[in-house]
Amino acid sequence: MSKYIVNHDQKVIHRSSYVCDECNIPPYEHQMREDIEEDKLIHQLTDLTYIKCTNCFELILLSQKHDDSDKRI
Ligand SMILES: [Zn+2]
Repeated sequence: MSKYIVNHDQKVIHRSSYVCDECNIPPYEHQMREDIEEDKLIHQLTDLTYIKCTNCFELILLSQKHDDSDKRI
């Protein structure tokens, strides 16, 4: 599975590890869907009009915050 899933119809980028039901990603074979592995390709898309899905990306932020407050070395 690739790192990112792009919905070209809605111009939304999802993190494949964090997709949930609310993301409504298109099925594999759908034309509007593209699976992308490289971060730099994602940056190119966000430089256009693409946005990062809040469902996928806010989850990461939340988990990072949690990690910070619970840091053990
Ligand atoms: Zn998503």
